[in-house]
Amino acid sequence: MTLRLYDSATTQTRDFVPLVDGQVGIYHCGLTVQGPPHLGHIRKEVVFDVLRRWLMHEGYEVTLVANVTDIEDKILAKGAEQDRPWWSVAYENERALHAAYDVLGCLPPTYEPRATGHVPEIIELVETLIARGHAYAAPDGSGDVYFDVRSWPDYGELSRQRIDDMRDAEDADPRGKRDPRDFALWKGHKEGEPETASWPSPWGRGRPGWHIECSAMATKYLGSEFDIHGGGIDLRFPHHENELAQATAAGMPFARLWMHNQMVRIGGEKMSKSVGNSLLVSEVVKRFRPVDVRYYLVAAHYRSVIDYSEEALTDAATTYQRIEGFVRRATEATGASTDLAELGGGVTPGFAAAMDDDLAIPTALAQVQELVRDGNKQLAAGEEQKYALVSTLSAVRRMLDVLGLDPYAPHWAGAGEGGSAERAALGTLVDALLEQRAQARADKDFATADRVRDQLKAAGVEVEDTPAGPRWSVGGTERQES
Ligand SMILES: [Zn+2]
Repeated sequence: MTLRLYDSATTQTRDFVPLVDGQVGIYHCGLTVQGPPHLGHIRKEVVFDVLRRWLMHEGYEVTLVANVTDIEDKILAKGAEQDRPWWSVAYENERALHAAYDVLGCLPPTYEPRATGHVPEIIELVETLIARGHAYAAPDGSGDVYFDVRSWPDYGELSRQRIDDMRDAEDADPRGKRDPRDFALWKGHKEGEPETASWPSPWGRGRPGWHIECSAMATKYLGSEFDIHGGGIDLRFPHHENELAQATAAGMPFARLWMHNQMVRIGGEKMSKSVGNSLLVSEVVKRFRPVDVRYYLVAAHYRSVIDYSEEALTDAATTYQRIEGFVRRATEATGASTDLAELGGGVTPGFAAAMDDDLAIPTALAQVQELVRDGNKQLAAGEEQKYALVSTLSAVRRMLDVLGLDPYAPHWAGAGEGGSAERAALGTLVDALLEQRAQARADKDFATADRVRDQLKAAGVEVEDTPAGPRWSVGGTERQES
């Protein structure tokens, strides 16, 4: 079976055939580092991380390039607003992005180019477009250079729109434009902008437009033609439409397949910075274990919207913990190795078929859950099913590994049950005390039960009794007793 992927450009699902046998090049648009990432931003990194892991599992060598947009109007505005250099805003948020990648178990990109590190390549590409008659310097002396959308008959092919139906490009003063939909390739330096945010060019000092940086960087690191260009569906137009126009108008074939993930919504709207800090990745992982958050983001099909709610995330955490609980119990019962390489085994044909079907993860996870059910029966049967249990366990772990969710993977294992080492140690102690309290209550020894509760409280651990059992939290960081 071969991998089939949905191509946003043709809106068709088709066989994925890499340009070079055994190798896959992927470019996805990283963040504009104007703020730290929230769940809506990081979904894309998780989606492409799973694609990459599946391709690696299937024997491909994957080069994954994710850029960092470290110069842009919003970053300059943040710098001015906070009275500090624009680059300090960019670097701080880039570090927050790396921390978010890491905490959710995403493999770091093979290359992570920054826009400001590629100004010569960008200028060269703009010069090519001018020479080929597809770009022009604004006649108003602003130093802006625009892409001439009317000069490129294929403009609109990615988002399947006619030029006359498109909205205007709102990236610069329309006075210098031949058509209001022409977009900026190069932005002339404006009075009031920091001098450090401009570079010399044939059109005077200025800085790159947003779209051109990706065309320049993708083709620098992956060649003029490459396998997959990805990003969130909100980038399809205008950003990706413009990237495609720039690259193809400059004579490059560019991406062979466009892959877009859906958004995370909250209250029916795209998650944006207006949702506040509580949905920053750095905050969510204080309320939920990182591995549970990853499961939540992985479990939905990448082309389905995730409507965020704390309840849905809690449910996902409970589901993952059931799978994880099986893996731990089965490992203990069989004495199997926690090292996946030693354990051997492989994914089930059903799982592979689901992954090959445009990453149908809900179907793939149904396979995992079915095996966990079988495995739990084998566990209950004891010694006589031990051999079967080892093979179930190894298949479950292989499948979880493809999704970056194997509980014994070094990334999670070193940190205890998918959290920090401190958290795992704390969890063990609190669970032991809660067990004592439950025993005391069963024995009607309420004095002891209350004392345990007070001890926990004195240590800052709040206990709440719910129908599903006691829940405890430290400073609002909730966790269900397992
Ligand atoms: Zn891009």
